[in-house]
Amino acid sequence: MTDLILKKGKERSLLRRHPWVYDTAVQKLTGKAVSGDTVRVCSYDGRFLAWAAYSKDSTLRARCWSFDESEQIDALWIEKKIKKALIARQSLFARTSAVRVIFGEADQLPGLVVDRYGDWFVTQFQAAGVEAFRDVIADVLMSVPGIKGIFDRSDAATRHREGLAERVELLRGQEPPQEIEVVEDGVRYGVDVRKGHKTGFYIDQRENRFLAQRLAREFKARTGRGMRALNCFCYTGGFSLALLAGGADEVISVDSSAEALAMAARNAARNGFDDSKAKWVQADVFEYLRKAREAGETFDLVILDPPKFASSHRHIDRAARAYKDINLNGLRLVTPGGDLLTFSCSGAMDVDLFQKVIAGAVIDSKREAWMIARLGAGADHPLMMTCPEGEYLKGLQLTLR
Ligand code: SAH
Repeated sequence: MTDLILKKGKERSLLRRHPWVYDTAVQKLTGKAVSGDTVRVCSYDGRFLAWAAYSKDSTLRARCWSFDESEQIDALWIEKKIKKALIARQSLFARTSAVRVIFGEADQLPGLVVDRYGDWFVTQFQAAGVEAFRDVIADVLMSVPGIKGIFDRSDAATRHREGLAERVELLRGQEPPQEIEVVEDGVRYGVDVRKGHKTGFYIDQRENRFLAQRLAREFKARTGRGMRALNCFCYTGGFSLALLAGGADEVISVDSSAEALAMAARNAARNGFDDSKAKWVQADVFEYLRKAREAGETFDLVILDPPKFASSHRHIDRAARAYKDINLNGLRLVTPGGDLLTFSCSGAMDVDLFQKVIAGAVIDSKREAWMIARLGAGADHPLMMTCPEGEYLKGLQLTLR
């Protein structure tokens, strides 16, 4: 076994069970190791710190499997972690057939994402360590009762940094249909696991879709009419369909992608929703919001769930301006008593900064707003307490006064 020896002082984060070793923390390797090999991470004075997967080309030089010296990282260990992850998600299947069953570091399988859509698993191997155990992982997943196949969507940019080529192919079993139908809180969605974003669907927004559905239902109970809502960056209609299921009367959904909008419309049809209640608009949200304001439009609910504006800390200022712009213009469209659900999935922007940006938008809008709730990803995307970097999705529910 090769030792990966850290520079003096660099053991501190690992002693606090943070699972990443950066290249700058490494003193030396005692022997040979190729990417994907398990190494023994030690402090400068030779104390055991962790078992980790080595990745020779990545600035994330090693990702920890375990901080327990007595453990042996082998096929059986991997199998145990997968089974533990599956058990932790079991209760969610009562509500939905779209669940993230493995979420990397939080499940002690750094770099591995596995989503279940109906009878298929979709995998993303984003690090050399899990890549080396690919067959073991596939075998264990394939043994889950009811599973027809595993589709691999290992096309994330992180693979390049790990020296791994992109791979999009059937890994085991049967080819999935062009669109897998999933049902979440009573709403049907088609998921294109080959070409859709991430593994095909924003599973992480489940609780917030449910909130949207509830807000639409409560609005109707309170006012006797269905709400008028605006869903910006709608993609395949996640929030739009939840709102229609909750009894919204009119949902305008905006996205720049014609393909996403076509799929969203198909998803609405899948649920038998009244065509006249859903409008699918192909436009740039920044421009759309400005024009809607000039036209004097108002909505009982506005949702802003944009793509990642900041891909790294270097882009944080520009991203903050973009978030402020859409939130300022979004806020201005909300009727008094109505809500804004606003999100950011930029990992580089933390919760505090996001909240400050939104507060700035509220001030500039000259509106009064309450913060009702902080929002985030669902229980199948747990956050490891020792690795706050795992928190990427954050949101706020504001009620306009
Ligand atoms: N809210 C969605 C996920 C949003 S993904 C859900 O819950 O499923 C981001 C979406 O924003 C993509 O569909 C992309 O096509 C769209 N998009 C990116 N930039 C845009 C822009 N400037 N105007 C409109 N849509 C944009």
